[in-house]
Amino acid sequence: MPPQQQFGAFTASELYCPKCGKAQPVRERLLLVLPSGELHEYLCARCATSLGQREVTGPPLTAAVAHPSRAARKRKLLHT
Ligand SMILES: [Zn+2]
Repeated sequence: MPPQQQFGAFTASELYCPKCGKAQPVRERLLLVLPSGELHEYLCARCATSLGQREVTGPPLTAAVAHPSRAARKRKLLHT
């Protein structure tokens, strides 16, 4: 296996950085751990400006997204 496989978890490799004035490689770091998943932050690899956030959800939520209408109906029933 090539060593590049280590970086396979990165979903965004470059984002526009307003401070640098161009797209820059990003670094991802764990910002928060939520009940529904994890909040990751993208930082400019050059100046460390925050370029965006991404919520990484666990397997249960991913399954719910596959059937949005069904999940919404189930949620409504649970709350009433
Ligand atoms: Zn930058």
